[in-house]
Amino acid sequence: MKLLSVVIPCFNEELVLPAAHERLSRAVSAIDGFDHELIFIDDGSRDDTFRLLTEIQSHDSHVRVLRLSRNFGHQIAVTAGLEAAAGDVIVVIDADLQDPPEVIAEMIDLWRQGNHVVYGIRTTRAGESRFKLMTAKAFYRIINRFSDTPMPVDTGDFRLMDRKVVDVLLAMPERGRFLRGMVSWIGFRQAPLAYERQPRGAGRTKYSLFRMIQFALDGILSFSVLPLRLAALTGLVAIGFALAGIVMAVVVRLLGLYDLRLGRGWASLFVAVLFMGGVQLLSLGVMGEYLGRIYTEVKRRPLYAVQERLGFEVPRADQLDSRTANERVKVLF
Ligand code: UDP
Ligand code: MG
Repeated sequence: MKLLSVVIPCFNEELVLPAAHERLSRAVSAIDGFDHELIFIDDGSRDDTFRLLTEIQSHDSHVRVLRLSRNFGHQIAVTAGLEAAAGDVIVVIDADLQDPPEVIAEMIDLWRQGNHVVYGIRTTRAGESRFKLMTAKAFYRIINRFSDTPMPVDTGDFRLMDRKVVDVLLAMPERGRFLRGMVSWIGFRQAPLAYERQPRGAGRTKYSLFRMIQFALDGILSFSVLPLRLAALTGLVAIGFALAGIVMAVVVRLLGLYDLRLGRGWASLFVAVLFMGGVQLLSLGVMGEYLGRIYTEVKRRPLYAVQERLGFEVPRADQLDSRTANERVKVLF
């Protein structure tokens, strides 16, 4: 019997949790040849989420609860869940029932056919604003142009991963965690699975516009140094213009072409100076973004802190394996 771990990040999801637990349990219990565990991560919820999870856990021994000490954000909550997961196969799914739990069975089928990662592709996205759809589309376009790692378009974090893949993922220590990109980077055999994304079961989205921008920046900056190159390229173009300007000035001087009235060109001068100032500040800003990221990375703080764990008490065979993910990966290579 294999073990399936389902990782479910929750932030203020009191409205949808009981329904999510029920539907998830039903869906994964129906899968043959697998025992399962449901790992709920309470990502510092300020509503009744944790109390509800405690209650659900007391009735269902498949449920484990990890309560983080504060809100660390979706990607880190998922990472915490992956670290706690013991399964041979691990599925990450949102708590809000936008990703239908019944699709997990299809993912398992693809895993049985030898795929190490099965990622969900949203064919339709009911109940999401036009703005979100448009920004999401633009985002995938930009990131694929910028990034060295090609990323499948229209994927989210709903995916199945083999143990091997999760071990590699956990051995990647970076703080700027753009999981879907990191999983693409890992490789192995990856297969898409189309599904229809549903409207939220209840509650509201936890991704504000600001957080979405932050997330998109994380995605681009942690997978590419192209913005830095663009800054250098802009500099080269500016130098090109300057050289042309010098040649022109000399020619004007030598041939006495003062009719061109270059002496009156204060407006163009003004604009050029301002423009260059802008380009310089922008380039500095781009460098600053990378520098800031380097700064947070080198501090090497732990990614998150756990306040409480429920349901992990029963020792499982894999927990006797005291090696860290890093060590396990070394054996792999
Ligand atoms: N989430 C989380 N921490 C956060 C924000 C979100 O754990 O800081 C969880 C949330 O509870 C949900 C999932 O991440 O299960 C996806 O969030 P949401 O549905 O708000 O995002 P959307 O689907 O609108 O992109
Ligand atoms: Mg959602």
